[in-house]
Amino acid sequence: MAMLRLRDLKCYYDTPRGVVQAVDGVSFDIQPNEVLGIAGESGCGKSTLLKALYDYIQPPLQIVSGTYEADFPDGKGKVKTIGPGEIRQHWWEFISYIPQGSMSVLNPVIRIESQFFDAVPRDHSLRAVGKTAIRERVAAYLKELELPVEVLKSYPHQLSGGMKQRVLVALGTFLHPQIVLADEPTTALDVVVQKGILLMLTELQQQMENTLVVVSHDMGVHYQISDRLAIMYAGKLVEYGPTDAIFNNPAHPYTQMLIGSLPRVGDRTQRVGISGRPPNLVNPPAGCRFAARCPKVMDHCAHEAPALLQIEPEHFVSCHLYGERAS
Ligand code: SF4
Repeated sequence: MAMLRLRDLKCYYDTPRGVVQAVDGVSFDIQPNEVLGIAGESGCGKSTLLKALYDYIQPPLQIVSGTYEADFPDGKGKVKTIGPGEIRQHWWEFISYIPQGSMSVLNPVIRIESQFFDAVPRDHSLRAVGKTAIRERVAAYLKELELPVEVLKSYPHQLSGGMKQRVLVALGTFLHPQIVLADEPTTALDVVVQKGILLMLTELQQQMENTLVVVSHDMGVHYQISDRLAIMYAGKLVEYGPTDAIFNNPAHPYTQMLIGSLPRVGDRTQRVGISGRPPNLVNPPAGCRFAARCPKVMDHCAHEAPALLQIEPEHFVSCHLYGERAS
């Protein structure tokens, strides 16, 4: 049974330039105890989708239509289905969010220790044990993660970029949430630090047996850590399935080009990028949104939007090369 379910979800930004259709009709399930990757170019809607999953909807962003719901264990052996407006009541303990850019996310005028205190919900049992006990729990958790306890007394600007990101991961996992959402967790970090952060995230996911959803434009990150992968293009989900199936048998022309552009050890041939630009999401094309860049475009692609079809077990694609319109 899926833990989080999205059905035809549409999230738009109402801006002075018009309504940006950032996430436009996305449907998929997120399973318990998995690492789900969400990939795609900048502006494809992946970070907006993550905000929706976190129930972090603030103007100008709004949910226009569709549904999403999560199964929340109430602690008494029962599972309650919760949706937008309710998910936020269970931030940190049920679902946590590691936003993009640790530099700007941590409050610069508050010591790290207080940022942990603030993350404990008012009705959480830890509140009853008092600040000293919480401090001890946080210190023990940092030691478990092999982070120096001294960071608790620091302000964010006193920490390196890599340490700030590790602190954010610690903060996001402190209450052992069932779902951890991480937005570009390795951006702007050097390769060695990136590797350490990915290792930390995946080890914690394995220990807690929870669900980790990672947004990244870096397909190498997904290859290393994701069990399943969702590929987004211009607000649409274009391919979705087990990571191995997507890397070994990419079905959508966009996914094929994304994977084809990756460097390979020992292969010195020039990698070809994807020419052209994604469409303007204020006024996107009526048919397939990839049509203007697709090397396999057909006549009907420009005016008929393809549906999401299953092409092999658990592997879905949205493209006219498959299904009834193939050939
Ligand atoms: Fe290319 Fe047509 Fe498939 Fe879109 S639907 S990816 S234009 S072949």
